Amino acid sequence: MTTQHPFVEVSPWFNAAQEPEPALQQDIAADVVIIGGGYVGLSTALTLRAAGADVVILEQGVAGSGASGRNAGHLTPTIGKDLPTTLRLFGRKRAAALVRFADAAVEHTEQVIQDHEIDCRYEATGNIIAGLHPKHISTLEQAAETARSLGAAVRFLPEGEMRERGVPPAFLCGVLEERGGTLNPGLYVAGLRQAALRAGVRLFEETRVLGIDDGARVEARTEGGTVTANHAVIATNAYTEQLGRRKGYVTPLRVSLFETEPLSQSDLDGLGWKGREGIYTAHEALENYRLTAHGTLSGGSKVVRYRYGSKLPPGRDPEAFDTIEQFFRERFPTLRDVRIVNFWGGWIGFTFDLLPQLGVEGTHQNVHFGVGFNGHGVAQATLVGSMIAERILGKEHPHAAALGRRLRRWPPEPLRWVAAELINRALALVDARTDRQVRRLNQR
Ligand SMILES: Cc1cc2nc3c(=O)[nH]c(=O)nc-3n(C[C@H](O)[C@H](O)[C@H](O)COP(=O)(O)OP(=O)(O)OC[C@H]3O[C@@H](n4cnc5c(N)ncnc54)[C@H](O)[C@@H]3O)c2cc1C
Repeated sequence: MTTQHPFVEVSPWFNAAQEPEPALQQDIAADVVIIGGGYVGLSTALTLRAAGADVVILEQGVAGSGASGRNAGHLTPTIGKDLPTTLRLFGRKRAAALVRFADAAVEHTEQVIQDHEIDCRYEATGNIIAGLHPKHISTLEQAAETARSLGAAVRFLPEGEMRERGVPPAFLCGVLEERGGTLNPGLYVAGLRQAALRAGVRLFEETRVLGIDDGARVEARTEGGTVTANHAVIATNAYTEQLGRRKGYVTPLRVSLFETEPLSQSDLDGLGWKGREGIYTAHEALENYRLTAHGTLSGGSKVVRYRYGSKLPPGRDPEAFDTIEQFFRERFPTLRDVRIVNFWGGWIGFTFDLLPQLGVEGTHQNVHFGVGFNGHGVAQATLVGSMIAERILGKEHPHAAALGRRLRRWPPEPLRWVAAELINRALALVDARTDRQVRRLNQR
C-alpha cells in the first residue's frame, strides 16, 4: 500500500498554470453579479451575456478551482439517490419530471460543448451503474424497470452482455444509462471560462465575496470593492455555508479521486473495455471508474467525509487515498503494476432530499441561487445556470418546475455532525458487507 501519495491540490484536470484574471479593486456596477465561477456561475453568465446583460463574476480562486475542475467527469442523467428511491419519496409524476430534467441537462450540456466548441474530450459512451455480486442482479433489474417506466433511457445489462461489451469482469451486471458519457471536467470548465471572457463577461478572480447586502440594488462586498447590481446569483455550491447565505441548505462532503499513469496497449488489451463506458458501482457510497482520452484510468469516491461546521479544509486524506487505491487494485487485478500518479479531493454539495435547489430569496427577491447537485452537477449545474439566467430575463425554463418544492435544511450543529457520522457509518457498514461478499465469491 502506498504511504507517500502523489497529491495535487485542485486536480490533474485543472490547469493551474492559467493566468488568473485580475482581482476586483474598485466599486463597480453591473446588471447581475454572480458569486462563484464553476459550471453554474459560468453557465448563468453565458446565457445572460447572450441576451446582452452586463455580467460580473466574482470568484475566490480561479474559475473552475471548486468542484467543477475536480470532479470525475461522468456526464450523467442520474438524479437523486436512485430512481426507485426518488419514486418512493416524490411520487410518479414528480419522479418522471425529474427524469426529464436530468435528461434535458445532459442534452443541454452536450449542446453547450458544441456551441462553444469546447474540446473537453467528451466521449458519448454512456455510464453503467455496475453490480458486483449476484445479489445486485435482481435489484438492478428492478431499478432499470422502474427507471424505464419513468421514461429514463436506461437498460439492464445481464452478465453475458457485460462480457460481450468487454466491461472488466469485476463488474458483473449493470444498468446502462444510454445518455451521457465521460469528459475532461477541467477542460470543460476552462472552455466555459474562455467562452465567458470572449463574450465580454467581467470575471474577477482571487476575489472572495465577504457578504451580500440586500436591497433593490443588491451589493456583493469584497475586500477590494463592492459590486452593485439588480440581481445577485449564489453559485457557490458546497461552499455556500461559508458565504453566510442559504445557511443549512447545503452540506459539503469530501470525496477523493486518483489517476493512473498512462496504460500501455497491453494493459488496455487485457482490460477489454472497448465501449469505454463510465462505471459507478451499486454501493451506498459508490466507487467510480473511467478511462480518459489521454490514456489513463481515473476513479475513486467510496470514502465520504464531513467536517464539523461544514468546513472545507484543503489537503490530503491519506486514509481515503489508501482505500480507493485498495479497491482499484481489487477491481482491476490486471493493472496491478500500473502506478497511481495523482490523488486529489473535492467537496460535493449535498441537500437534504438529494435534489438540486433552484430559487430566489432576499428582501427584494433578487438574490437567486442554484446549489446542491449531490455529485451529479456536470450536467445539472450547467442546466441550472441557464435556468437562473432565464428567470432573471423573465422567462421560465420548461424543466425548472421539476425542482420546485419546499426546500429543507440539514439540522444545525452539533446535530448535523452527529447525523452525518451516523449515516456515513451505517452506509459504510452496508458497503463493507457487500465487499466481503464479493471477496468471498472471488476466492471460490
Ligand atoms: C470529487 C468530485 C467528483 C465528482 N464527480 C462528478 C461526476 O463524475 N459527475 C457529475 O455530474 N458531478 C460530479 N461531481 C459534482 C460536480 O463537480 C458539481 O456538482 C459541480 O461542479 C457543481 O458546480 P458549481 O458551479 O455549482 O460549483 P463549484 O464548481 O464548486 O463552483 C463554486 C465556486 O464558487 C467559488 N466560491 C465559493 N465561495 C465563494 C466566495 N465567498 N466568493 C467568491 N467565490 C466563491 C468557489 O471557489 C468555486 O469555484 C463531483 C464533485 C466532486 C467534488
